[in-house]
Amino acid sequence: MPAPLTLSARAGALQPSLTLSIAAKARQLLADGQDICSLSAGEPDFETPAFIRQAACEALEAGHTRYGPVAGEPALRAAIAAKLSAENQVPTRAEQVLVTNGGKQALFNLFQVLLNPGDEVLLPSPFWLSYPEMAQLAGASVRYLPSDPARGFRLDPADLDAAITPASRLLVLNSPGNPTGMVLSKAELEALAAVLRRHPQLVVVCDEIYEYLLAPGHRHHSFAAVAPDLADRVFIVNGFAKGWAMTGWRIGWLAGPKEVIVAASALQSQSTSNVCSFAQFGALAAITGPRDCVTAMAAQFSERRTLLGDGLQAIPGVRLVAPEGAFYAFPDVRAWGLDSMTLCNRLLEEVGLAVVPGVAFGDDRCIRLSCAAAPATLGDGLERLRRFAARL
Ligand code: GLU
Repeated sequence: MPAPLTLSARAGALQPSLTLSIAAKARQLLADGQDICSLSAGEPDFETPAFIRQAACEALEAGHTRYGPVAGEPALRAAIAAKLSAENQVPTRAEQVLVTNGGKQALFNLFQVLLNPGDEVLLPSPFWLSYPEMAQLAGASVRYLPSDPARGFRLDPADLDAAITPASRLLVLNSPGNPTGMVLSKAELEALAAVLRRHPQLVVVCDEIYEYLLAPGHRHHSFAAVAPDLADRVFIVNGFAKGWAMTGWRIGWLAGPKEVIVAASALQSQSTSNVCSFAQFGALAAITGPRDCVTAMAAQFSERRTLLGDGLQAIPGVRLVAPEGAFYAFPDVRAWGLDSMTLCNRLLEEVGLAVVPGVAFGDDRCIRLSCAAAPATLGDGLERLRRFAARL
């Protein structure tokens, strides 16, 4: 008989999020008075725009303090549907939208309601570290689709085709991507759609959380708009955290075929209920408001992406595929001869620089640095990295 506090097999196999834990460790070291530069978490350093904060405060004062509809405030669901229809060219009705506790809960719910033990999730690698854990929590296994820095970390449609088995159930597309910053072009999405047409059992989830964060010359395309004939098996995950600087608000959404949204809503009704009611009114102001705040922050991230990218390229032993979007750089530092975990531990101990080891994202040759930090902080981080490299 197991001891009463023995963890379930599920929990026993679970890894805590390294992005969150490294960021928390860096914050703690800073609070302890240590000289730390953190380029770890992907979190905008901007305040949530004032009109959004004000809308949430007004909703709170107006008494939006009780349980709300599990699937989200009707006005917010409608506004998200309208945004998807108009901005992303993915015709969507309000009933096809579930408001979730961040993009993470959208993914978690979807994995739970779609996947059975024995199912396979196809995951282009490098990948954001929560996808495999969520797939495994749903009882599925993960089949990785590796891509090479030498080929710009691009997913080859032929590799996808070759990896599909009768057990393959769900393909994850994350563009702009975390950690590589790769942005799938329209032509690439069309090529992937051609593969998917040959495999009708496969569902696609598009994590579009970085959609507004694009390097100049790049455009975000929603897969469901590029391949409307596949829309009945495509889901979109997105949220307010990155575009509107609302990480702590925890508001995201899942959009897609209604019957699955109904199931995900039932799951939410038995787990968390509605997302914080008054916060949803802040999100409503954000999504129905002018986009200039989003554009202004995205422009700053672009400058910082360039600053970080150029600085990294100039450090001996660093090879970088220039990120096309999101706010990360994922340089290949294998020339330094250290595994990524050892390297990140040494960077923290020896020069006080907190970054995330590539092994957490499926590539031990790389490390991930976030450029969601003030230019002075980026300059400081680069200087620490240069100092470290010079000593190796
Ligand atoms: N997605 C961000 C990152 O990768 C935030 C932390 C997390 O949720 O993993 O840093």
